[in-house]
Amino acid sequence: MMLTRDDCAALDSQDALAACRDEFQLPDGVIYLDGNSLGALPKRSVDVLSRTVEDEWGNGLIRSWGAADWFTLPERLGDRVGRLIGAAPGQTIVCDGTSINIYKALRAAMALRPDRKVIVSEKGSFPTDLYVCEGAMTSQEGASRRLLGVDSDSLEDLIDEQVSVVLLSNVDYRTGKLLDMEKITKLAHDAGALIIWDLCHSAGVVPMELDAIKADFAVGCTYKYLNGGPGSPAYIYVAERHHDAAHQPLSGWWGHADPFAFNHEFVPTKGIKRFLVGTQSALALRGVDAALEFFDRVDLRAIRGKSQSLCDTFIELVEQHPVLRGLEVVSPRDPDERGSQVSLYFENGYPVVKAMIEQGVIGDFREPGIMRFGLAPYYLRYVDLFDAVEVMADCFERKVWTEKKYSERETVT
Ligand SMILES: *Cc1c(COP(=O)(O)O)cnc(C)c1O
Repeated sequence: MMLTRDDCAALDSQDALAACRDEFQLPDGVIYLDGNSLGALPKRSVDVLSRTVEDEWGNGLIRSWGAADWFTLPERLGDRVGRLIGAAPGQTIVCDGTSINIYKALRAAMALRPDRKVIVSEKGSFPTDLYVCEGAMTSQEGASRRLLGVDSDSLEDLIDEQVSVVLLSNVDYRTGKLLDMEKITKLAHDAGALIIWDLCHSAGVVPMELDAIKADFAVGCTYKYLNGGPGSPAYIYVAERHHDAAHQPLSGWWGHADPFAFNHEFVPTKGIKRFLVGTQSALALRGVDAALEFFDRVDLRAIRGKSQSLCDTFIELVEQHPVLRGLEVVSPRDPDERGSQVSLYFENGYPVVKAMIEQGVIGDFREPGIMRFGLAPYYLRYVDLFDAVEVMADCFERKVWTEKKYSERETVT
């Protein structure tokens, strides 16, 4: 049985989360399938950000660090992100960027296992994770790295008593494959290693329980599925049991026990705040503040349910289309082994994505040949998926890859 547009409209009419779409500002004529790169603008953020600029900055001036509670935003927002990742309060803080937080977490974790010199990561991980890892390794003489997909295809082979830290993403940014966090965390711990989870592609769409699975560290960004705004600050989670012993390398005044004493010597503050470095952008933090208000209210399990159903529907629509037979579904079929994205392989994927964007269907492309569609369940409708697949089929029918203008690469893909 072919899924029709009417079937999709019927799914929308039964969707308990359908009303959430109204909370986002989406341009007319656009179907946005790139919520995993930059989340859409929450309408609420427009008001919150303009109030922050005009009132808190304009009228409050320097007083707003205290009077508008700018100074405590990193920890307050951190607790709200914590709720989404299964972290009790006091262990998560919103600050800096993901790459910087990976560096802090890596160095802190390496220093907690000083007699071990091997880091385990993954060849297919988002490149910045690997680049930061290279940089962190220069801090320890004799440090080396084992990569999943290069040195072995099995984490069991890679993780032994020489390993200090395991750094992995729970959702693969290219394929959308979701790892078993609990099992892998235990694998690391059984070998005496620590684990750092990169949650960039999962927080806000995949429920998880960092405390319960005894994760050590986690990092993630807020501008993808959390809709915090372009370049909004990231977060870092450090399990409470490590707080006293964990030291991050970027000791700055915001992580000082008494920042306004302006002492000459660095004394780290207690708790997660020692992972702060310096002054944070109050404007950017307010973007996260406004965006999290949505997540304070919704049930993450309902979000996950719709996300899985959207991805299943998208795959079904692609596979039933006679024109799209040349596409290979790269993402796992089992919804429990997949994040909130569907990746399709096609050797001329880049021109197809570019031609789709020209028709208002925004997805993105990652080498090699991967057309990536991040399905944010808060603002996507089933009919959007139907229409997007029709546009994709139109691009195939037109063989857009034979036209030069679609093959020329943009700076940001
Ligand atoms: C998006 C993403 C990043 C981004 O790092 P930034 O420092 O925010 O640029 C890092 N890691 C993963 C896995 C990502 O998906």
